[in-house]
Amino acid sequence: MGKMLDSNTIAALNAASKMAYDIAKSKGFYPATSGEMIKKLIEEVDEVAVEIRNFLNGEDHALGEEAADVVITMFAAAYFLLGEGVGQDISDKLKKNAGRPWRHGKG
Ligand SMILES: [Mg+2]
Repeated sequence: MGKMLDSNTIAALNAASKMAYDIAKSKGFYPATSGEMIKKLIEEVDEVAVEIRNFLNGEDHALGEEAADVVITMFAAAYFLLGEGVGQDISDKLKKNAGRPWRHGKG
């Protein structure tokens, strides 16, 4: 198995992570402590969990927006901590996951 994502896609993911960080910084969320980053991530995951329930119950939902928020929040934190490399990390992890066994060997 070769590369999972092409270089243009990796570059686009890197640009998105930088943009997520730049916008969050411009709104006062960075610099941030580990506790602040973790709290924000948990809040966003909680929000998408509510929207998953709404979606599955056939109710009005904002699943796409809240799913995007989780990714955007993680992108910003990754850029703050690691710099512009999350695109390659995503490609590498997709490749690793694709090579893992059924249910990752956990039954
Ligand atoms: Mg949200």
